[in-house]
Amino acid sequence: MTQPENLTAPALLGEFSYELRPVERGYANRTLYINLNDNVITEKPVSQQMKDLFTGGRGFALKLLWDAVTPTTRWDDPQNELVIANGPICGITAYPGSGKSTIVTLSPLTENVIDSNVGGYFAPFLKFSGFDALEIQGKATNDVIIFIDGDSGKVTIERDSLEAVDAHLIGNALTERFGGNEKGKRGISVLSAGQGAEHTRIAMINSTWYDVRRKEARFKQAGRGGTGRVLRDKKIKAIVVKFTDMGGDLNGVADMPLIRKAGQRINKEITDLDDVQNQMRKVGTANIVDVMDHFDLLPTHNFRYGSHPDVSKIDSKVWKEYFTQGVPDGCWLGCTMSCSHGVDHFLLKTGPYAGTCVIVDGPEYENAAGLGSNIGNFDPQKVLELNFYCDTYGIDTISVANCIAFAMECYEAGQITSEHTGGLELKFGNGAAALDLIHQMAKGEGFGVIVGQGVRYMKDYFAREFGADPVFMHDIGMEIKGMEISEYMTKESLAQQGGYGLATKGPQHDEAWLIFMDQVHNLLPTFKDKAEALHYFPMWRTWFSLHGLCKLPWNDISPANNKQTKEPAKVEEHVENYTWIHQGVTGIPTTTDTLLRQSERVYNFQKVFAIRMGRVGRQHDYPPYRAMGPVTVEEYESRKERYDEQLKRLLEIDPTGMTTEQKMTELRKYRLAQYELMMDAVYERRGWDSNSIPTLEKLHNLGMDLPEVLEVVEKARTSIA
Ligand code: SF4
Repeated sequence: MTQPENLTAPALLGEFSYELRPVERGYANRTLYINLNDNVITEKPVSQQMKDLFTGGRGFALKLLWDAVTPTTRWDDPQNELVIANGPICGITAYPGSGKSTIVTLSPLTENVIDSNVGGYFAPFLKFSGFDALEIQGKATNDVIIFIDGDSGKVTIERDSLEAVDAHLIGNALTERFGGNEKGKRGISVLSAGQGAEHTRIAMINSTWYDVRRKEARFKQAGRGGTGRVLRDKKIKAIVVKFTDMGGDLNGVADMPLIRKAGQRINKEITDLDDVQNQMRKVGTANIVDVMDHFDLLPTHNFRYGSHPDVSKIDSKVWKEYFTQGVPDGCWLGCTMSCSHGVDHFLLKTGPYAGTCVIVDGPEYENAAGLGSNIGNFDPQKVLELNFYCDTYGIDTISVANCIAFAMECYEAGQITSEHTGGLELKFGNGAAALDLIHQMAKGEGFGVIVGQGVRYMKDYFAREFGADPVFMHDIGMEIKGMEISEYMTKESLAQQGGYGLATKGPQHDEAWLIFMDQVHNLLPTFKDKAEALHYFPMWRTWFSLHGLCKLPWNDISPANNKQTKEPAKVEEHVENYTWIHQGVTGIPTTTDTLLRQSERVYNFQKVFAIRMGRVGRQHDYPPYRAMGPVTVEEYESRKERYDEQLKRLLEIDPTGMTTEQKMTELRKYRLAQYELMMDAVYERRGWDSNSIPTLEKLHNLGMDLPEVLEVVEKARTSIA
């Protein structure tokens, strides 16, 4: 089954044949295990208990990783795993957005468990090839390509023979090689990173699908937490899955008419209403750049401000013009929302591919905000060039944007100088310098390598090596738990501060996005309201990752009468759709509570996993003050009227005659105290104690009282008492 690695031997290092069999009610009922230390490949059965407790997708991946590591395992130990999972609903084509992979590993950024989801065809093809999850442990000696052939039932590990080192070339070369003809290429999906993933911790994994119209591989990204660094640390050049016999009913579902009923209902909404709602089919998530700016929520100059006079240069109208219109841009079959837009024939001006024309996948909102306003870059051409190179080098656009913005603010504040940056003038708006940094990250040289280790790393490094002020950097470094905060301003939304601070994996908006409910519509006035939202929405969003679903069709389109419903933010009609498709796939009678309990079990398990890996106590759950209020005099004075009014109304302090510094001190005390109260309310609602540890009662109630889980919790409680 396996062969010893030998540089002169044929390229095949490991081989495994397995029985092809149909999916049953959403499950392939086995997972695939690969160890790159010795090229062992094997399959593992999925037990009923695994399904009952962990559901699938992120739940399966967490359970497999838990069993593989110990509390002392580090991200770059061979013992760490990269786990890629799908979920029972993943792969259906009758409901939009059903093709997501979830990637789970120990993160080089957070030094703890991370999950990140991604579109493309990998997850469904993995399932139809026979596996609910792929688990990769160990490290190869030289670069390898893993190939899962779902057509013939064979898995191979081979030595990499590609010259290509970046994702856009790797993806296309392997689609061509393993797909062969047009039909074959449609059945290929490739996971890969790029040169940047070898030198940075903010590295991500690209996932492809073959775009039949453009005749090229397209890309989506599992951006968060540094998963690409783990991929390259294991010396995996690419993972390829092949499944060419695609059809619409491969999930072995229990009740296809029920699934179709839900699909027809939402597809009609998308057809009828998308154009008058968010225009996802024309602009994708970039439609909200202008909206965010309007409500002072668009991160600008390292989250100092929420709007900018030049926003019209990078707003939704600009991207609508750039995007090729009228082509089906779905990242999985049947996704009528089709929001994965691209800019065709983009001529690169810098870097190793200067002078060539490429497809830029995006920009999505996060890229436009991060690589645009947050670094003060309002040149759309540079946003596109940055977007392309981040993707092909395997660098997360959100993290890199915050890293560059942080370095720029440190530079402008005199904390670091051009001597430290190797001559780069890191001023806000210098998009060319941002590109230089990214090319340095790919080459593994220069100041870019330091920036590419993340904001948390830079804070320590700048203080230690350059004598920069640690207190100032702590306030302005936009990371929590080691991961960079995604691109939304939270100063005026306490609930969203909690959405970021209290997220187990780190500050990513796929847990909770409450800014509009809280700040714009004022629907969460009390701590109880905020706590309820910070319970419900993370549970709901977790559910998508258990099943391989995209979040966007849940609330980026809504029924015509949604605003008249009791709780429009929940989009109850779509929640009902999800109960139908869950029941339709699995045959299990389903209510909303069935789905929320699935999430709560896994959410609490992930929390205990993080505790097991050493993150014990509430001190890990605080955002930097920049996410809570004005750090600098300049920030305060830019919104003086707002803050002065808050001092009067909320603190009953008359700001007349006070210096700006005095006012900032009072406001800061107030906001920090509010955050503490919010934390306590959320912990209580989630069934956690005041040290952010799930209670035994909660774990018993969820049936998540496994002996190994209780042991971790009891040990943590004793250690902190
Ligand atoms: S809504 Fe967009 S991101 Fe989600 S599955 Fe569809 S095309 Fe992909």
